Amino acid sequence: MKNIPVIMIIFGGSGDLAHRKLYPCLFNLYEQGLIHDNFAVIGTARRPWSHEYLREQVSDAIHETHDQVDENEVKAFASHFYYQSHDVTNVEHYVTLKKLAQELDDRYSAQGNCLFYMAMAPRFFGTIATHINDQHLTGSGFNRIVVEKPFGHDLVSAEQLNKEITASFDENDIFRIDHYLGKEMIQNIMPMRFTNPLIKNIWSGEYINNIQITLAERLGVEARGGYYDTSGALRDMVQNHIFQIITLLAMPEPKDLSSDSVHQAKQELLKSLIIPTPEEVKKNFVRGQYLGSDTTFAYKKEPNVDPDSTTETYVAGKTKFTSGPIAGVPIYFRTGKEFKEKKTRIDIVLKHINNPYGQAHSNNITIEVDPESKIYITINGKKIDEPGIRREDLTYAFSKEEMAKVPDGYERLLHDVFVNDSTNFTHWSELKRYWEFIDAVEDAWQKENEAGNPEIAQYLPYRMGPKEADNIFESPTEHWIYE
Ligand code: NAD
Repeated sequence: MKNIPVIMIIFGGSGDLAHRKLYPCLFNLYEQGLIHDNFAVIGTARRPWSHEYLREQVSDAIHETHDQVDENEVKAFASHFYYQSHDVTNVEHYVTLKKLAQELDDRYSAQGNCLFYMAMAPRFFGTIATHINDQHLTGSGFNRIVVEKPFGHDLVSAEQLNKEITASFDENDIFRIDHYLGKEMIQNIMPMRFTNPLIKNIWSGEYINNIQITLAERLGVEARGGYYDTSGALRDMVQNHIFQIITLLAMPEPKDLSSDSVHQAKQELLKSLIIPTPEEVKKNFVRGQYLGSDTTFAYKKEPNVDPDSTTETYVAGKTKFTSGPIAGVPIYFRTGKEFKEKKTRIDIVLKHINNPYGQAHSNNITIEVDPESKIYITINGKKIDEPGIRREDLTYAFSKEEMAKVPDGYERLLHDVFVNDSTNFTHWSELKRYWEFIDAVEDAWQKENEAGNPEIAQYLPYRMGPKEADNIFESPTEHWIYE
């Protein structure tokens, strides 16, 4: 499908996400002809910018992300952008916005199609959704809305936000975005699992000992201390990215690749997600905060962070399902700030098998998601000139030329929104289940805080997080594969 007619309204048009991701990715989709003659973008924010100034910003954003561009193309693309100064809390501003959207719909023959993108502080999402509804901003064609993360702060606030959004949009038209689902290696999980008998047939508790997921960040909270202190690693990373990865790893095979079938498989799995009790949280979860170094602040000394904060900058935990191909297999995860390096990786740890060579020899399947993109499987052979087992990796990787072709996750997902494919977005029933899990952990921690005995491990910056996380394994033979 090419040249999709649409008026796109970006709430937060002067923000970081719009500048670094949305404008460059929209340009790439324009170059591919997906949006071309019949589209216009209205960028909104509070600042008093002009259309011309927004177009300069769009052009700068493209130059910052592309080595070579055709200046005429950039100019032609930027000419589709319009700026509307808009305070999302002011009802009257929606009337002006609606008028501009209608004018542009006529000028660009956009057939009444509207795409709303919430690219601003999440506390405004509900207000925007409410005013889209009460000021009747939706058009006569398709109406879709993209909602950034986080979708709520807990189950109750997520339910409230969902109610506000569903007042104007059907579930099928709500695109809850998680850019991890646009990443190349995350999109490789399904084909890897389902198309190779070697892998498909061992995907069970009979052969898989445990699964480990690490989302390590090198940076601290930087300027986001104020926001981060109200969120923490569990809400910021586990509720969305880590749970999406877990779901792809544990779900049953969908009957086909349609969005409905994929979501059906995910939902079937999530019904059997085990929600931890407070005792299980105590046993299976570790929360931590980074300490300072010669050149960096400890978390509690970061600007805008409460000096008595109990917010975790690190979490490790365990989860399991009672159904699906890997029912009963422990899935360990950890994420945090100020790790030794930035890394997203998944280790599937296979069981040891009895063998005539005597010793136990581990075999793993590893998926590196960031910064490298590859999958490798350990193969055991014999050592050349002495008795014993030699371990080598068999690697699925990309050439430099192939890597250059991999689109940014945002480009893929924006493409999917335009062509109305929700496969790689979060359905409400999935999100709800993720929040039920997160709330159970948060509630248990809150009770510990209130009792005055929170166990918050302090960890040295730029290493692998707190050593307490080595104790969440079910068996003493298990350990973190990535160290
Ligand atoms: P930002 O603070 O850079 O931008 C926020 C935008 O909202 C700005 O344009 C600002 O002017 C506008 N704004 C603030 N108050 C307003 C008001 N009352 N009325 C109208 N406009 C107002 O934020 P960001 O980093 O672009 O993040 C936006 C969203 O995207 C957040 O939900 C965030 O979680 C998500 N996100 C961002 C990134 C990223 O790389 N920046 C990545 C993933 C997700």
